[in-house]
Amino acid sequence: MKGMSIRAILTVPNPILKQVSKPVAKVTDEIRALMDDMLETMYDAPGIGLAAVQVGEPVNVIVMDLAKNEDEPAPMYFVNPEILEMNEEEKPYEEGCLSVPDVYDEIDRSVRVKLKYLDYHGKEVVEWAEGLYAVCIQHEMDHLKGVLFIDYLSRLKRTRAVKKVQKNEKLKA
Ligand code: ZN
Repeated sequence: MKGMSIRAILTVPNPILKQVSKPVAKVTDEIRALMDDMLETMYDAPGIGLAAVQVGEPVNVIVMDLAKNEDEPAPMYFVNPEILEMNEEEKPYEEGCLSVPDVYDEIDRSVRVKLKYLDYHGKEVVEWAEGLYAVCIQHEMDHLKGVLFIDYLSRLKRTRAVKKVQKNEKLKA
């Protein structure tokens, strides 16, 4: 495929991650190219979900792939995702984030959410997500609002997480 490239993933405390992303007017070839790059970047990391703002593009675009390692890749693309309904029941799940590498903690999320979004071809999809799909899409949609999973943790844990990431980045540099 032409032009696919791996982008740099922004990490905390980069202020761009706190920006609110903007809706996409139309799913154009340019947006598809961004989604291709994001998918490539996510596979390379590796991770199971990535929001455009994490590669420095604050627009409402998310890619995910929840296939298990031994299975065929199953890329999922979300443009302008919205949650139409959510189950009141919440469950904790241990989350991580490519923008907060090597930090994991349990976050409560709704177990089932009804989604509306545009797919890779710009077609509108309405469907229920549950299990890991529900957890991951809620995590990624938080990114579009400038919210990170560590924002749900205590201030102490959050400060510690950011320090850990900064320390590790310094070691890599
Ligand atoms: Zn994340």
